[in-house]
Amino acid sequence: MSEKQFDVRNPATEEIIETLNNNSEEEINEMIENAHHAFQKFKKTTAHERSALLYKWRELILEQEEEIALIMTKESGKPLKESKGEVKYATDYILWFAEEAKRTYGRAIPEHVDNKRLIVTRAPVGVVASITPWNFPAAMMTRKAAPALAAGCTFICKPAQDTPLTTMKFVDLAHEAGFDKDVIQYVNGSGKDVGKIFTSHELISKITYTGSTPVGKQLMEQSSSTLKKVTLELGGHAPLIVHEDADIEKAVQGTIASKFRNAGQTCVCANRIYVHESIKDKFESSLKSEVNKLKVGNGQNESTDIGPVINSDGFEKIKSHIDDATSKGARVVTGGDSYKDGGYFVEPTILSEVTDDMKIMFEETFGPVIPIQTYNSLEEVIKKANDTPFGLAAYFFTENYATGIELYENLNYGVIGWNDGGPSAAHIPFGGMKESGFGREGGSEGIEPYLETKVASILL
Ligand code: NAP
Repeated sequence: MSEKQFDVRNPATEEIIETLNNNSEEEINEMIENAHHAFQKFKKTTAHERSALLYKWRELILEQEEEIALIMTKESGKPLKESKGEVKYATDYILWFAEEAKRTYGRAIPEHVDNKRLIVTRAPVGVVASITPWNFPAAMMTRKAAPALAAGCTFICKPAQDTPLTTMKFVDLAHEAGFDKDVIQYVNGSGKDVGKIFTSHELISKITYTGSTPVGKQLMEQSSSTLKKVTLELGGHAPLIVHEDADIEKAVQGTIASKFRNAGQTCVCANRIYVHESIKDKFESSLKSEVNKLKVGNGQNESTDIGPVINSDGFEKIKSHIDDATSKGARVVTGGDSYKDGGYFVEPTILSEVTDDMKIMFEETFGPVIPIQTYNSLEEVIKKANDTPFGLAAYFFTENYATGIELYENLNYGVIGWNDGGPSAAHIPFGGMKESGFGREGGSEGIEPYLETKVASILL
């Protein structure tokens, strides 16, 4: 393993919040073995017992909502109001899967001969290992842990090294709620090192990963030697289309909701805005006046709308996207500045007259920057919107049903916001197409990746 320890820093100030130990390879192997032993017992608990544990877990988290939100803001930089929202959002998954635990139905198949009976049941897959990113340190973990535990699997998670504290707190509260210490565990270590151990260990049955597409591909490749089940929630490059018949006010609010959550560091953030030529000026000026109201600052201030971005790599990437676009002719409508004031801050920015050769139009920016391009026909914009290897989220704004259906049916994305800038919730299946990964989290689909199907063909 590379380093023995790592620092967790506040991205608003760069101060060290905590220094943590990386787990050694021996420790991680022991944890996996313990998870395997715990699975032999946990898989025999009833769905109702597991549901009750999940209910209790959620209750304990919500009791400490304020304290956890503060931890999250300190390690991730996101505004306190968003951290509180995320704690609630994360517990929505626990609640949803506390109920879904009781609905993992099997079935009886009508027999084809009179001396046979055919029964189908669902069984937990085994030990599940998860790796999650820093942008949603609570929700990305509960989207995986809650269905895994509901199904009867044991669970080991590796949070991002930028934001391990929220996840660690959640695991501690799971133990307090009554889950055995080996049923849910966390590992600290670099993704590269831990990923290798998880993907090669024969006692791990499933890898579930949220993060960037290159790492997702690598984990899939590494998992092939033991043929693990894999779920991948990867990067995106969401188009947002504002058609000529859109309600401009709705489109502006939807764009802000989609783009500026977590300073633009979400996988479903609108990354490219396509506006119909006929309404461009109206949309742009309305968007500008709303964007100018957003306050940038330390997430711990209640009035902050946009906190710092996570670290210097993220900061440099956003800056390079703005510089690349402006050097190729983009016009800065508002914002454009970034500054290092203790932490890494980027002004909410609108760029107009962007062209397809600018990086921002094909690379994930992960920052509070909106590039606007115009179009003239639906056919043209559908082609542009789909012209990417990604397929996670897309948005469009129209007041016309026929236009809406045409866009919905032709956009190759797993999650579509139709006049809606926030299309994610625990009861909605979430996931991508193409290089945005596969598998769905949330919804009734969300427990499927943690279950095997077994059949008993009984000869009487
Ligand atoms: P990342 O570099 O892939 O990191 C995510 C996680 O993977 C971290 O825990 C990281 O550990 C770990 N990791 C890094 N390299 C690894 C390797 N070689 N093997 C195994 N694990 C490794 O991604 P990021 O840039 O932090 O996160 C942003 C990405 O996540 C974006 O592309 C975003 O779109 C995507 N995302 C997708 C969804 C979705 O649901 N589809 C949701 C949120 C984010 P360390 O902390 O040690 O680096």
